Amino acid sequence: MPVVPMQSILKHAFDNRYGVGAFNIVDWVTMDAVLAAAAETKSPVIVQVSVKTVKVMGAKLIRVMFEEMAGRVPVPATLHLDHCPDRRVIEECIAAGWSSVLFAASKLTYEDNKSQTREVVELAHRHGVAVEGELEAVRGVEDGVGSAEQGAVVALDKAVAFIRETGIDSFAPAIGTAHGMYKGAPKINFTRVSEIVAAEPVPLVVHGGTGLSEETFQDLIRRGAPKVNISTQLKITLADGYRKYLAEKPSEYDPLKLLGAVKRDLVAQVAYFMRVFGSEGKAA
Ligand SMILES: [Zn+2]
Repeated sequence: MPVVPMQSILKHAFDNRYGVGAFNIVDWVTMDAVLAAAAETKSPVIVQVSVKTVKVMGAKLIRVMFEEMAGRVPVPATLHLDHCPDRRVIEECIAAGWSSVLFAASKLTYEDNKSQTREVVELAHRHGVAVEGELEAVRGVEDGVGSAEQGAVVALDKAVAFIRETGIDSFAPAIGTAHGMYKGAPKINFTRVSEIVAAEPVPLVVHGGTGLSEETFQDLIRRGAPKVNISTQLKITLADGYRKYLAEKPSEYDPLKLLGAVKRDLVAQVAYFMRVFGSEGKAA
């Protein structure tokens, strides 16, 4: 299918209370695997890319590759830039025709974050690009972004004012999830999701999806958080996939067989998440 806007994928998922996985890709194999899993489960899908990967591959190459690969699968797919504090990179992705960006301005003061996010939204919307906003840093550093400690949680009325006044398309609240691996069972603030959505019906985003239970995902999705980010688990599946294949076949040198085996592991992992999030069969 041709690339679909983020707004339409999130709106349908939010209105019908199912989740859409946003899977971080790092190369051709991971992008291919995420799209193949979406085709297999007939799921809409968000292909997500970190700034670090954009710096390696370039915004244009990723966009061209995505357009071609998304065109080969019969499901709605959209291309999103993960946590980006650098407005030049955001502008580069918008110019290259990406679908959506996360402007990560939680290090700024509340007022500066609001005014800068509003500027990013104005530019993005002129190009039909969606913007995800955040007020509080998600705990745990991911690809050089984020903070080690959970900062203060912004009061509900200020969070709602931020959503309304910036015009963001989705909002990533701090709800006790964290990037990377959880050391203990996370304490999730489910109520905050319900409170924000009751005050302002905007699709919310779950960061730090790796390691959450199926029940936690489904509860958050039902409350109004349809975008669920998965990055760490795919890094693990990717690295383990290479290790396993190379250990099992020490005299095999066909790179396409190696990449094919890694892709199969990734497809199984991504398809599992799609079924848990309830996006299976929602591609129509
Ligand atoms: Zn994140």
